[in-house]
Amino acid sequence: MRIKEYYAPTTLDEAYNLFQEELTTIISGGTWLKLLPKAIEKAIDLSKLGLDQVVEKPDTIEIGSMVTLEQLRQHPTLLALADGVIPKAINHIMGVPIRNIATIGGSVAGKFGFSDIITPLLTMGTIIEFSHMPDMSLEDYMAHKKIANDFITKIIIASVPGKAHFKSVKKTSNDFPILNICVSKLEGKYKIAVGARPAGALLAHKAMDFINEQTSITEDIISETATIAMTELTFGTNSRGSNVYRTSIAEVLIKRGLKEVQDAK
Ligand SMILES: Cc1cc2nc3c(=O)[nH]c(=O)nc-3n(C[C@H](O)[C@H](O)[C@H](O)COP(=O)(O)OP(=O)(O)OC[C@H]3O[C@@H](n4cnc5c(N)ncnc54)[C@H](O)[C@@H]3O)c2cc1C
Repeated sequence: MRIKEYYAPTTLDEAYNLFQEELTTIISGGTWLKLLPKAIEKAIDLSKLGLDQVVEKPDTIEIGSMVTLEQLRQHPTLLALADGVIPKAINHIMGVPIRNIATIGGSVAGKFGFSDIITPLLTMGTIIEFSHMPDMSLEDYMAHKKIANDFITKIIIASVPGKAHFKSVKKTSNDFPILNICVSKLEGKYKIAVGARPAGALLAHKAMDFINEQTSITEDIISETATIAMTELTFGTNSRGSNVYRTSIAEVLIKRGLKEVQDAK
């Protein structure tokens, strides 16, 4: 990675003001940026802003954008939350050396279609905090075109009782996913997210609305929910898998996910 000018601001205001200048790039872990061929004109390194902490609040967990994926994978609070779904999702992202550098901020800001972390975060009521802009839900952030004038400072997830189930289908354990799904049942409400379609992860709102209206959950309701999800989600083809393959496994995985979390109160 070639960097022409390098800045390591020590306050959020300083970082924000620098970022308003032309040709600036935020660097967190740099694991993804390092793979890109072009030189970075002005790099703004966020590592001196104290954004590397996980803080527990009464109903939320605030994760600083510079917290590494490995920190999250081993964090006791996250291991205890919703069946440890976030650490489980991180388990198969590359190996420990990359996870010790790659950050949650870079993982979310990249909006990577192959992301194994955005899919579970979508089911956890996640809010994105910026240095100056108002907070935004992760779902809105994903739908928003690139935010060019501010950067992520925290990822805030709901800390509520319930269960979640994540599954990523990969050819080998550390490969990019062919498809991933997460189903949660938190405070009695189901959420279903599907990622690596190969486009970015989406929540299946019609299917969620359908199952959340039911008074009892039977095999038929679970099948119907998965069928509705398949009518609203679209799948594509890339070198890892065809849309036909993705379509066929998605429905099965959604059903399995719903069954896994069904007994959560
Ligand atoms: C070889 C390889 C394989 C991988 N495989 C997988 C996989 O299978 N599944 C998976 O989920 N992930 C995978 N990853 C993705 C990995 O998780 C990302 O590289 C990592 O998440 C990026 O984090 P980073 O901190 O290094 O970001 P950086 O490389 O520093 O930044 C990534 C992008 O986000 C921007 N950015 C960074 N931080 C912020 C911020 N706080 N606010 C706004 N913009 C910001 C940067 O400007 C850049 O555009 C893989 C990565 C590599 C290198």
